[in-house]
Formats: sequence, structure tokens, C-alpha cells
Amino acid sequence: MANAHWLFGDQLGPHFVAPGDGGPHRDAPVVMVEARSVFRRRTFHRAKAHLILSAMRRRAAELGDRVTYVRADTYRDGLDKAVGKAQVTVHHPTSHAAMRFVRSLDQVTVLPARGFLVARDAFGQWVGDRGERHWRQEDFYRWVRRERGLLMDGAEPAGGRWNFDHDNRASPPRGVRELDVPPPYHPREDDVDDEVRHDLDAWERAGDVAFVGRDGPRLFPASRREARAALKRFVADRLPNFGTYEDAILSADPVMSHSLLSAPLNLGLLDPAECVEAAEAAWRRGDAPLNSVEGFIRQIAGWREYVWQLYWHFGERYRASNVLGHTAPLPRWFREADADAVEANCLRSVLGQVRDTGWTHHIPRLMILGSHALQRGWDPAAVTDWFHRLFVDGYDWVMVPNVVGMSQYADGGRMTTKPYTSGGAYVHRMSDLCGPCAFRPTERLGPHACPFTGGYWAFLHRHRELLERNPRMTRAVQGLDRLTDLDQVLDQWGSPNA
Ligand code: FAD
Repeated sequence: MANAHWLFGDQLGPHFVAPGDGGPHRDAPVVMVEARSVFRRRTFHRAKAHLILSAMRRRAAELGDRVTYVRADTYRDGLDKAVGKAQVTVHHPTSHAAMRFVRSLDQVTVLPARGFLVARDAFGQWVGDRGERHWRQEDFYRWVRRERGLLMDGAEPAGGRWNFDHDNRASPPRGVRELDVPPPYHPREDDVDDEVRHDLDAWERAGDVAFVGRDGPRLFPASRREARAALKRFVADRLPNFGTYEDAILSADPVMSHSLLSAPLNLGLLDPAECVEAAEAAWRRGDAPLNSVEGFIRQIAGWREYVWQLYWHFGERYRASNVLGHTAPLPRWFREADADAVEANCLRSVLGQVRDTGWTHHIPRLMILGSHALQRGWDPAAVTDWFHRLFVDGYDWVMVPNVVGMSQYADGGRMTTKPYTSGGAYVHRMSDLCGPCAFRPTERLGPHACPFTGGYWAFLHRHRELLERNPRMTRAVQGLDRLTDLDQVLDQWGSPNA
């Protein structure tokens, strides 16, 4: 009899049980372990717990007699219950902790990673002896495009350009509350959702676990069928508009033209190859413009792959990076996503979305939540943990580089060329959040001063010495010298709790 094959809760698509090419035996029985300790260790968003459990239980139902599905306290207990000491295979897990754990078990054989476009050893070869400065995301992305022949015309990028970012940075259209695009795919809840809610209620009542956030109607796919439907709907309805307003924020339209595919991708319900191929096919059919298609493919074949590779390449100690020496604790309102306790409209609106759905698109994560944490000097490890717990698509491999590197600049620029933060003027230009706000993006002092405008200058001042050595920041830092009221700005905004 073939060895059993163990599926983690983020390995739920058919490609995680496909034989051949380093996969499990074609007749391998399957083991899945629902480990309660995962939810006990941290206070997760309840919609995230709901999504993961309902996706796992749906997958088990699909696999039928082939799977042994065990509810246990820990993975170790679950595995023991399911197979005793028998040998099992598992595909490369997605966190350092899980990798350490499976490697510590003599009974487990680790198979290559699935669910990504680039194999880890291929990335290792590509990095080769390039210096860190020469393997930025853009270089990596072009290499992936060439290697896979993705959106290429022979040796040249389709349309003659690699990068359409310039076309994809429009401010939101003024005077509209929502983009004129069809609504995103919404799954229909069923008995599995009811059962999961019932279990979560019981665990909470028993004081076994605690959650934050609202577990409203489930917004994200929890099965392969739902995930395929979501991809199909996105490509048909929203991909054509994906590019132009990619960086803009509309408070009444949190999704705009984004795909909402990160959760099914990270659960392993979708393979990235099918997403980028579907997008390219839409362009080749003439159904979507190149700026949108390139923008979407860049997110998946560029950013998602790059982040996955960096997580392993930088190693486990990377998460503790804190080059800026930020140590302030997260305030209660942020920790608990208590949006109503915040006055600034941008933070209130975005935090409200997190509380209600466990999701926002990239720019609110980076330029509102992350930027505020950076300006206030909050401990980057605590910020990473917060994002991981509160976002439905948050997993260690994707949170650590995105928060430590991209959002908190705690690695001093190993991942990005400069810190991502701004004054209120940027938020005003790229969103409709400032209009109804009690604070004014142009003011840095006094009762109506915008926390982002004051916070930006305080941040630049605090790290002047480091930042002025960065050519991409020189002009911004020099701006400090033109502020005649810098002392007062620092009085108002210089402390983490300002
Ligand atoms: P779209 O805008 O439609 O993009 C398409 C896909 O591209 C996404 O589904 C995602 O799979 C991929 N993608 C785009 N950017 C990134 C990126 N930087 N890293 C990895 N994948 C990317 N993404 C996660 O999947 N999980 C996270 O935990 C996560 N945490 C983040 C935290 C911070 C502070 C920041 C700045 C970004 C984070 N991202 C994370 C990246 C990105 O914000 C989300 O992938 C995206 O907002 C998900 O929404 P969407 O599916 O509609 O994305």
C-alpha cells in the first residue's frame, strides 16, 4: 500500500495530490489534520478561521473515502491518530515553523513545493552570484516572464514594454462613489458554513479561543469550484479595468477592480499558472487591455513569486529585522480593529473594512495601515503578527516580507529601494478619504493637522541620517530644511502615541 500523503490547510487544490513530477503516489491515501492549537495560539480574525476550516472540511468531503480527516489538538496528535508511526509524504510547507516541524519527524518525506511558478532551486540559481541590489522584483519578474514565455512575443515583451505601471497609477475618478464594474463573485453559504460557525461559537463559549472581527457572510471561495468561478468572473468582468485605478482607494467601493483571489491562491485552491494564463488569454482574445493584463500578471508572477522566494532566501531570522529600531507597542484600537475609536477618516474607513471582512486591497494595507505604523514607530514584529492574524489571506511566508520588508522597511532596504510612506497629500490625491475627514491633508500643526502629514515629517526627521544616504529619499529629506515650524511639528507628532 502506498504511503499516505498529508495535506496542510493551505494545500487544498488538485495540484497538491497530483502524482508525477515530485508528487505523491497516485494511490496514496490522504491525511488532513484540523489542529485546534493553531487557533488557540493567537487571536485571529473570525472570518479567517471560518474560511480556513470551511475550505478544509469541503476538501475532505470532496476526497471522500480517500481521506482520513482528524480533529485534534496539535498536528503531532492528529498525525499519530491518523497513521500512527507509518511513513507519510507532504509537499513543502509554507512556513519556517512548519518546515522545522515536518523535518523533525522521521516518518515524513518532504516533496517539492507546489502552488508557485518558480522552483526554489531555480531561484537559487538565478540569484547565483548577483549582489542583492541586482535581484530586485523587476529583474526577477522579467526573468519569470522569459522563462515561462508569459506575455511574450518571441524574445520581446508583448506590446514592446515590460512595465505598464505608469498607466496604472490614476487617481480615483472624481465625483463617483464606485467604479462602474460588475460586482465581484460572492460564494453562497451552505451547511458547511453553518457547521463551522456552530463550532467556532462553541469554542469561543468554552473560552478555548478568542477571535476579533466580524464573521459576516463568507466573501471568499472555500472550494475549488468556487475558486474557479471567482477567477472566471474576475477575468470576464473586472480584469479589463484592473490596471488604471490599481493604486486608488474609494471608501464606498473597497474592492474596485481588484481580483479578491489572494485567499483562494494562498489556500492552494487556485494555481498561479492558471490565473496568469487566463489573464493572458483574455488579452490575446482582445477582451482586456494590456496595461490591465500586465498589471495583474506582474502582481502574481512578479510580486507573489518574489515574496515567496525571499521568505526562504532571507531565512528565519529576517522576521526579527528592526533596522529602524522601532519598539512602540500597537495601541488598543489598532490591535482590536476598533475602527469607531479612530477620528482620522482614512484609518477609520480602512480599519472598519479589516474588522468587517479581513481584507483590504494593497494600497490601504501599504499606504494607510502600514504607513501609519511606520510613522508612529510601532514594533515591526508586532505589526507583522497583527497583519497575519487579521487578514484572511495572511500566511507567514507572505506576511513576513510584505510587512517587515515592504511596509515597515525594517530590513533597511533589502526588499525595497525606499520606505513606503507619505504625507496626507498622497492619500488625498489617491483616494476620496480626506473629503469628509476632520483633519486636513495640507495641515501639519494644530487641531486639524493630518496625522499622515505631521507623521511623515516626524518620521523623516527621526531617520534622517539613514534616509539621506538613499538617493531615492534625498529630496524628501531635504524638504525638512524648508520647514520653519519643524520643532512644533515634532512636539505634536514626534512621539509614537501622538
Ligand atoms: P489583486 O490586486 O487582485 O492582485 C492579484 C494577486 O497578486 C493577489 O491575489 C496576490 O496573490 C498577488 N499579489 C499582489 N501583490 C502581492 C504581494 N505584495 N505579495 C504577495 N502577493 C501579491 N498578500 C497576501 O496574499 N497575503 C498577505 O498576507 C498579504 N499581506 C500584505 C501586507 C502588507 C502590509 C502589504 C503591503 C501587502 C500584503 N499582501 C498580502 C499583498 C497584497 O496586498 C494582497 O495580495 C492583495 O491586496 C490581495 O487582494 P487581491 O487578491 O484583490 O489582489
